[in-house]
Amino acid sequence: MDRSLAAELRAAVETAREQLRDWLEEGVEAFERSAAQQAAFADVAEPAPAPREPRPARKPREAEPTRTAPAPSVAAPRPFGPHPTLDEVRASLGDCRRCRLAEGRTQLVFGDGNPEADILFVGEGPGEQEDLQGLPFVGRAGELLTQMIERGLGIARRSVYICNIVKCRPPQNRTPLADEVSTCRPFLDGQIDAVRPKVIVALGKPATSLLLGRDVSITRVRGVWQDYRGFAVMPTFHPAFVLRQYTPENRRLVWEDLKSALGRARELGGRFE
Ligand code: SF4
Repeated sequence: MDRSLAAELRAAVETAREQLRDWLEEGVEAFERSAAQQAAFADVAEPAPAPREPRPARKPREAEPTRTAPAPSVAAPRPFGPHPTLDEVRASLGDCRRCRLAEGRTQLVFGDGNPEADILFVGEGPGEQEDLQGLPFVGRAGELLTQMIERGLGIARRSVYICNIVKCRPPQNRTPLADEVSTCRPFLDGQIDAVRPKVIVALGKPATSLLLGRDVSITRVRGVWQDYRGFAVMPTFHPAFVLRQYTPENRRLVWEDLKSALGRARELGGRFE
């Protein structure tokens, strides 16, 4: 086979593999066929199709709602000053009903941990257990995160701070929509400004996309230092993805990212229990 063709094929396979990994990280397990695709498959299944009527011109596709983070410019204004405390940020949320996620929540899940932590973890949004208990990362994915922090890094979970992009559980744990993210974003920014960590660890694609202000492939950016408003950001896989794809390779990659985050935080003067 021609070498350049072989190289192109390898690149295409690698791109497809990364896309699949991103979908898996987002929890995508299946795709629904569009009406046009169903019609196409039905056509294939028909043994003797009748002569067709001429097809009407296709309607242009409607834009799908943006599933990941919007650019920073669309964030709602902050209801507190530039140097808030966590208590001020929490108080400004109150019984927040600023977006539709309030409708399905049991309770708002603000954040947990050391208010002066040197590492701040950001996830996507509360799951079922978090919604019930009012604390972030307390379900199975939370147990794995705690293990990675305590057994892997050798530091106490209470020495870091953990929160999510959105503070209310999305229905069926779907990815938060762009308008929900932009409405809740000022409160995440407030938490970051209150804690002022040395390092932020972005858990998964949605959190990373939000902080970087663009839709990213987590497979490509994980393990590579990024910047968010002057804060060092280490993107890595979400623990829920690692649970679903519990391979030695995925665990090794996350372990390396967390070690790198801890090392950078220590270099910058971070201290941990
Ligand atoms: S997700 Fe955020 S903005 Fe939406 S209701 Fe909950 S706290 Fe308010």
